[in-house]
Amino acid sequence: MRPEILFPLFAPVRSLPGIGPRLEKLVEKLAGPKIIDLLWHLPSGLIDRRNRPKIAEVRDGEIATIEATVGLHIPPRTKRLPYRVHVFDETGEMQIVFFNPRPDYIAKTMPEGERRILSGRVEFYQGGPQMTHPDHIVPIDGLQDLPLLEPIYPLTAGLPLKSIQKAMKGALPLIPDLPEWQNGPWLKAQGWTSWSSSLTSAHQPQSAEAVEPSASARARLAYDELLANQLALGLVRLRMKKLPGRPVVGTGKLRVKIGDALPFALTGAQVRSLAEIDDDMKSPHRMLRLLQGDVGSGKTVVALFAMLNAVEAGFQAAMMAPTEILARQHFATLAPLCETAGVTIELLTGREKGRRREEILATISSGETKIIVGTHALFQEDVVFHALALAVVDEQHRFGVHQRLMLTSKGGPGTDVLVMTATPIPRTLTLTAYGDMDISKLDEKPPGRKPVDTRALPLDRLEEVVASLERALAKDAQVYWVCPLVEESDEVDAAAAEQRYEHLRSIFGAAVGLVHGRMKAADKDAVMARFQKGEIRILVATTVIEVGVNVPAATVMVIEHAERFGLAQLHQLRGRVGRGGDKSSCLLLYQAPLGETAAARIKIMRETEDGFRIAEEDLRLRGAGELLGTRQSGLPAFRIADIEEQKELLAAAHDDARMIIDRDPELESERGGALRILLYLFERDEAIRYLRSG
Ligand code: ADP
Ligand code: MG
Repeated sequence: MRPEILFPLFAPVRSLPGIGPRLEKLVEKLAGPKIIDLLWHLPSGLIDRRNRPKIAEVRDGEIATIEATVGLHIPPRTKRLPYRVHVFDETGEMQIVFFNPRPDYIAKTMPEGERRILSGRVEFYQGGPQMTHPDHIVPIDGLQDLPLLEPIYPLTAGLPLKSIQKAMKGALPLIPDLPEWQNGPWLKAQGWTSWSSSLTSAHQPQSAEAVEPSASARARLAYDELLANQLALGLVRLRMKKLPGRPVVGTGKLRVKIGDALPFALTGAQVRSLAEIDDDMKSPHRMLRLLQGDVGSGKTVVALFAMLNAVEAGFQAAMMAPTEILARQHFATLAPLCETAGVTIELLTGREKGRRREEILATISSGETKIIVGTHALFQEDVVFHALALAVVDEQHRFGVHQRLMLTSKGGPGTDVLVMTATPIPRTLTLTAYGDMDISKLDEKPPGRKPVDTRALPLDRLEEVVASLERALAKDAQVYWVCPLVEESDEVDAAAAEQRYEHLRSIFGAAVGLVHGRMKAADKDAVMARFQKGEIRILVATTVIEVGVNVPAATVMVIEHAERFGLAQLHQLRGRVGRGGDKSSCLLLYQAPLGETAAARIKIMRETEDGFRIAEEDLRLRGAGELLGTRQSGLPAFRIADIEEQKELLAAAHDDARMIIDRDPELESERGGALRILLYLFERDEAIRYLRSG
């Protein structure tokens, strides 16, 4: 239960003065639905109106606050011309310019002969100074109403700065004094003030430096956020580790059988990772391990061997994939291998229904089925395992922490967890997403991989590319053609892909297939299966194929509007080719001219295939905020902290959290009580549920 002291902060933004239904929607889009969301939306700059020159002293382009007497009004001769008002002081004269003013507005705000304070940007026009639509016009005695330092907020279309400022003005007094959760000496050493005064002053910057992440008030808020993140992860982990594990010791028999059936030997990195996994499974504690490996590094086999370990020891193992396509693909890969060793395996997704589903559930709960592959359908209540010893979660970045835990709880006490991620997450981010998970790295690609020849071409050479496909098809190549993410909308993407599909089909006929997110699951599967079998030679797709799809015979990847994709996404897409023995190529078609960032991304793609380097570059180019902000990534989105800029703060928060958990694991001390409030403040409620008196 959220503490009462936080209630005002969690009220809807519409309860603020000046926020009606229309603005509410916009604020929600910009910051979020709650007042606290709005308060986390910090200024990105400030307008300094302290510059108060005489008219003769004003300079072109500057923000100035001048005091002047209103002179002649010059209404426009035609509608298209502006309304001009002369103002003057003892040093000179300037013009105030209005386009399409309301008729009574100027008469009311600028009556002739009165003195006014005007603040806004000065420009020179035909040799004389003028100010177009001043930001503020107030009478002389209204000076105190004129904000000399005005915060600027990032905005969204349709939402004026003034509305956000006004909403903020209503929200700031609602900030309560909260008990201090930071360690006293640390707070002092950093020179930080209390949370409430930090948040308030972050919204009232007094200088340009005050809106930098390094500014004292902001650093404190960032640290609060990082501490909440690290503490929540630490508490969850503590509780998972505390649950007793069980030693799982395989005989190695099944591994030998299946190993013999594999057409390749494991790489050194695969062998090493498996040894680490075996050690964890053998121990009486539960395993919480992250298997990190670039696209194509061979995580699936490692997962299979880990699952065989559980099966050899008489238990069950489950593998969860984020999409239907992937779950089916894993099943298709694993089932024949399992068969050779007589290991029972079933697939369970949302699509298994009715009688069929009942049958599968029965074999899972009786223990007859040893390996279960599925989607999040594995979470459903009626899925009961007989003895689940290992849960493998693939492409984990699409699942939230919470879902991960749910699968774990399915196994009852002691289920080991192996999380696999294909996105090579930079070190700093690993810490925020996984806390202290143990990590195994597949840092070696299976042998025989040839580098993917990556080229960039402007879109106006598209027809050339199409012509080159003809040659590729003649050599029996298979091709992915990826259409851009136009918007965050399946519908629009699908339309673009459909168009390209029609176009290519008019040239290549039945060899062309189409798959996108709007298609029915069964239709998607059918298309994927035909591509897998080689019946479809050119697969036009949206990014549904981004993650994990494995068709080793495909050797050409065309990415249309490559400039619209993120670096990680491009890398994932390219990773779909270069999986077989044949030389592969990747064509990045871009819309010229390229922006600076897009050009940098394409350059990096051409330079390297090293996923870790690409991830680091991505972080550098985009900033952690954006990288983390994407919902899809499943990584925590930080509101204030800038992981890239504030690595030291993250490290400190990590240590701090660890110390807190060592000393006060149930958060029962005075500081512990305050830390609970911190967790609620940053909506890490799930972590509190793991406390004894949560
Ligand atoms: P990812 O790590 O992207 O999930 P996969 O597990 O899908 O990679 O493996 C990619 C391809 O590499 C598959 O076709 C797989 O059979 C193959 N592979 C995996 N391990 C090896 C190995 N040790 N030697 C050769 N090929 C391998
Ligand atoms: Mg995979």
